[in-house]
Order: sequence, then structure tokens, then C-alpha cells
Amino acid sequence: MAKTLTLLEELTKPRMRGLAGERPLPPVALAQRQFEAAADRMGLDPDVRRILAQPMNELVVHFPVRMDDGHVEMFTGYRVQHNNALGPFKGGLRFHPDLALGEVRTLAAWMTWKSAIARIPFGGAKGGIQLDPARCSRGELERITRRFCFALGSNIGPDYDIPAPDVNTNGQIMAWMLDTYLSTMPPQDRQRGMAVVTGKPVDSGGSLGREKATGQGVVFLIEQWAAEHGLDLSRSTFIVQGYGNVGSWAARLLARQGAKLIAVEDASGAIRDPKGIDADRLAEYVKQHRGVAGYGPAISHEAFFGTPADIFIPAAMAQQLTAATAPLLDVALVAEGANGPTDAEADGVLAKRGIHVIPDVLCNAGGVIVSYFEWLQNRQGDYWDLAEVDRKLHAKITAAYVRVRDTAVRESLDWRTAAYIVALSHLEAVYKERGIFP
Ligand code: NAD
Repeated sequence: MAKTLTLLEELTKPRMRGLAGERPLPPVALAQRQFEAAADRMGLDPDVRRILAQPMNELVVHFPVRMDDGHVEMFTGYRVQHNNALGPFKGGLRFHPDLALGEVRTLAAWMTWKSAIARIPFGGAKGGIQLDPARCSRGELERITRRFCFALGSNIGPDYDIPAPDVNTNGQIMAWMLDTYLSTMPPQDRQRGMAVVTGKPVDSGGSLGREKATGQGVVFLIEQWAAEHGLDLSRSTFIVQGYGNVGSWAARLLARQGAKLIAVEDASGAIRDPKGIDADRLAEYVKQHRGVAGYGPAISHEAFFGTPADIFIPAAMAQQLTAATAPLLDVALVAEGANGPTDAEADGVLAKRGIHVIPDVLCNAGGVIVSYFEWLQNRQGDYWDLAEVDRKLHAKITAAYVRVRDTAVRESLDWRTAAYIVALSHLEAVYKERGIFP
């Protein structure tokens, strides 16, 4: 009991800039509520429910790294492997100063649902290091990444657990992970080892289209939703929270459909320009200035959420839409690029206000889908052109959309619960067919 309280205390530490007095629910409670609601609604088999309610493996590593000034610093890293009934564990690595085991557990479970909804043969995992990479030199970041990879040892592998980028990690981090992993393998196994991580730079065995994949998937689903709801994207407006990999790619690709970006918020602040913000130029600016602040007229956090637009793409951290911020929203659609951006209260507020939500486990699945394509290409030694990657991504993610939409319509459900039911039904069928050993 005492242990649980400590974990909850740790998780409820306010981590995000929010409205005064706001104390978000821990994501672990959010994920549990979403899972329980769907399991109750579909009558999930109680044995399968017990299995899926907790992760299979949890690894915490503490490892030393020599810093630039010569002293040795200790770092803490995590890898939680939630489930591998459908295939090898799969999920990103996040570098964040507040990263905690509970959050990693939640993110790992979300990966299991995501792979199941997209019908790709992967399970769910997540990991990362408690670290603020902005405070490290490039050399320190490389040594920390390599030492973490070494500490994970045989707990990752191309047939077992395959990491990818997430918040504050990118292709460069994956290239260091790959090189470290391959350096510990016998030379004759190295070709197979290429698939140990995805999201690699293209020159190092990555897939064309992987960098933009999550944002591309978000945009494919916005296009599908817009076509079904009579929204003309070429005359639409949108706002984005988070201008990293997911947010900046979603914004750039949606702008190519003629949609107008009018407000952006990231960790550096929020900007708004009703005449339109050039999404490509903003991406260049963010690379140089490490944030959107200064690119356009500044606005408050509250004004950002209250900006009237057709679409809101949350693409930053969890629990951004809460009972405090959801009532401010003035949009028709929330397309969840981030993991867990909407808490349970906000879900209720959005439903009451008739704001549609494409839930995270469906909406941001483009990343893991193209990670699967990268893994396949590495194993086959056959590389696809960008048009082929995009075509296959479009087919997979819109098929997942149709599964979720049809379940929601058939069962008169919100799309989040419907998405969970799509995932849980698939996993339930697999457990029933295979049984429980022994
Ligand atoms: P990133 O590190 O590239 O970008 C994160 C962005 O969030 C940055 O713009 C940062 O400034 C912003 N941010 C951080 N704290 C903020 C705050 N307090 N207020 C407003 N903005 C804040 O990360 P990413 O890879 O783009 O991931 C973003 C989200 O998408 C995460 O929830 C991640 O789990 C999810 N996601 C990422 C992928 C992927 O392929 N990278 C796939 C699926 C889901």
C-alpha cells in the first residue's frame, strides 16, 4: 500500500504548464479508466482482463556516464514490456527529466492497443531515461544513449523488443542505439540486428517516410474524417500544440491541403496569427530557436486553447485537455497526435459539446505502422520508395479508422471506447485460441 501511494505521489507531481491550480490526474489512472470502461462495456473475458491489466516485464537500470567536466553522473532508465501476444514488444524511448515508471507503464500499454488496432504483428513496450537532453552536450547525449543501450543488453532485440523515437529522441539517438547494439553482436548476426530499432536515419537503414509517419497518419485520418463530415480542408483552419516531430509534420502536411495554421503552442510559449502561420518556415525557425516563441504575436496558454478553428492537433505531452482547458476549445475536431492528451473529464466535456475526437491509439498509429514497414524492409533487405510507404500507410491506418468508426456506430459508443474494444477483442481472440500455458 505504502509503495502505491509513493508512486501516485510521484505521478501527480504537476509536470506541465497549465492553468493556475490545475493538478492533472496521473496518466496511469487515465489509462486504467479507459481500459476498465472498454473491458466492462464489451464484457472482456475476466482471465484476459487480468493478464492485460498489468505489464509482463519491467526493467529499471541505473548506469554511470562520464560527463564533459570529468565527473561521473548516475542515470536511471526504464523499459516496460506490456504484452507480446501479437508479436515482439514495440515502443518508443522518451528522454524527459520527469519520466517515471508509472508513466512508462501507461505508455507501454497504449502501444499494445495501438498495434492491435492497426493489426500489425507487434506487442507494446515503452522506455526512456530520466534526463533533460537540453542540458547535455552532444557527446554526453551520445555516451548516455550508448550506455543505456548497453544496460538494456539482451532485453531488446529484433525478434524480441524493438525501440523507436519518442519525445526528445530522434533518428540520431536510434543510430547510436543501433551502433551500440551491433557492436555487442558477433559479426555474422549483424545484418539481422539492423532491425533492433526503428526510426533510424535513412542512411543507417531507416525507412523513407518514417520521420513524418506519425504526422502523416494524423493527416490521413483528418482527411478521411473531413470527407465524411463535409469539412472542406482547403478552407479550414487548425491549431497545434507541440511543434516537434509529430506536430510540425502534421502541420506541414495539413497546410499542403490548403488548411491554415493559425496558432501554435510548445514548451517555449504560444503564438497566434489569424492571417496564417507558414508551417514550413516555422519548422525551420524551431530548429534554430528551439521553440516557437518569437516567431509570431505571443498569446497566453488560455488564449491558445480558446482560438476558434476547425481542428485542434495536440502533439505535445499527456493531460493537456482537462476540465479546465476543454471548455475553452472552439473546434469541431480534436485529432490526438500526442499520447494521452485528453483526460477523462475533458472527454466528457468534449462529448457534451459535440466536439469529435480521433483518439490517440488510432490517430498517432502512423509511427508504429511505418516502424513495422522499416522492420520488414530491414529483414528483407529490400527498400521501398516513398510512394509505396505512403500508400501502404494510408491503407493500414484508414482500415484501422474504419474498424473503429464502424464499432462506434454499431455499439453507439464514443470513438475512444470503440478503439479500445477493437484492440481488446483482437487480443481476447488470440488468448482464447492459444490458451494459457501450461
Ligand atoms: P518531440 O520531442 O519531437 O516534440 C515534443 C513537443 O512538445 C515540442 O514541441 C515541445 O516543445 C512540446 N512540449 C513539451 N512540453 C510542453 C508544454 N508544457 N506545453 C506545450 N508544449 C510542450 O516529441 P514527438 O515525437 O513529436 O512526440 C509528441 C507526442 O506524440 C508525444 O505524446 C509522443 O508520445 C507522441 N507520439 C510520438 C510518435 C513519434 O513517432 N515520434 C508516435 C506516436 C505518438
